[in-house]
Amino acid sequence: MDTKPLGADLPDGVRFIGPEVDWEPGWAPGDAPSLADLNACVACGLCLPHCPTYRLTGEESASPRGRITAMRAVQEGRAATDETFARFMDLCLVCRACEDVCPSHVPFGRMMEAARTQIEPLRPRRARFLRRLGLDLVLPSKKLTWVAGALTPLARPFMPRRIRALIPRGGGEPFARLPRVTEPHGQLRGTVALLSGCVQDRWFRRVNRATIRVLARNGWRVVVPRRQVCCGALAAHNGHLRAARRLAKKNAAAFAEVDVVVANAAGGGAHMAEYGDLVEGAGLPVRDVMEFLHGEGLAGDAGSLPALTRVAYHDPCHALRAQGIHHQPRGLLRAIGNLELVEIPNGDRYCGAAGIYNVTEPEMSGRLMREKAEAVASTGAAVVASGNPGCTMQLLAGLGELGATMRVVHPVELLDRAMAR
Ligand code: SF4
Ligand code: SF4
Repeated sequence: MDTKPLGADLPDGVRFIGPEVDWEPGWAPGDAPSLADLNACVACGLCLPHCPTYRLTGEESASPRGRITAMRAVQEGRAATDETFARFMDLCLVCRACEDVCPSHVPFGRMMEAARTQIEPLRPRRARFLRRLGLDLVLPSKKLTWVAGALTPLARPFMPRRIRALIPRGGGEPFARLPRVTEPHGQLRGTVALLSGCVQDRWFRRVNRATIRVLARNGWRVVVPRRQVCCGALAAHNGHLRAARRLAKKNAAAFAEVDVVVANAAGGGAHMAEYGDLVEGAGLPVRDVMEFLHGEGLAGDAGSLPALTRVAYHDPCHALRAQGIHHQPRGLLRAIGNLELVEIPNGDRYCGAAGIYNVTEPEMSGRLMREKAEAVASTGAAVVASGNPGCTMQLLAGLGELGATMRVVHPVELLDRAMAR
């Protein structure tokens, strides 16, 4: 049998592209992109025009294909996980637009999360400390999240301007808790559990309250399990997979008995829906609140706003790309009387929030934010509806910079307002 290495018979000047015969992966022990996932990419490049960082830089290294090529080079022992590699990975927003359009179904999000665990040791000590503090300690702990939230108004004057602009004022109700059980109005259709979230519950508790009211008005008993914790999306997207797994296990236990987990934060819902990939047996039946209400149907009329209001709907990437949610929120908003729904030009483009990306990559995030805010403002709408707290914060900051006076709300808040009449 011929045992010559692959490519040994090629003519001079022609190089075999692929792993050397005796290659060793260059990953450090621990999480890393799997060979099967890397091999799924056929380098067709169809994802490139959909990638926000490629669109703005024109650089292959800032494209999904370029990032996968860099991962494959490490996998095949031809490159190291050095500063250059880290830069390729860090500029990605993990928006998963590439995954959505990929004909080979490359699971880019999970590959990027694994690749980022590899670059964590390369970060400067201060960055490592802050990430560990925020992602491994504060967010997973309800008490520490509460303390951080309570201290935010005091710390606000000392924050850099761009971070100050992102954090909503107030947030209110620091001592209040959501009701453990809310009984439905009228005929009981079933029981759902609400993912209250960490950022959502601290700064946008009103969205959680509106979600509970709308579900209850439509016949659903809503439970809010006390043992639930942060969903872990921020930790996972930033390569803190150990923390993300810990949180997934806790939430899998907290929501174990429920038929449906309703999420009103697209990033959290998309991440929780894939718990099974993170921890065997931790999968949960998660549905976005707008997709759930649309799919199950409203119990009655969607109601009406008090005056004719033009509303622009913003597609969060983790709703549109990761969960395929597009027509459901639009369908529900169109059902509301006195509501004129308008589309945002290039609405499938990213707003640049991406968890902590707007803090770690301010330049790229700022460019995407301005582009999005200008597109939103051009609609002439009075209100923009966004189903993800990260997007809401980014839109508020971007519209504020433009001096636009549009309100940013969750679409479920519009339903709540309309149904209350
Ligand atoms: S990720 Fe998918 S779309 Fe992009 S180059 Fe690879 S196979 Fe093609
Ligand atoms: S996740 Fe988004 S930013 Fe990252 S490579 Fe894919 S499309 Fe580009």
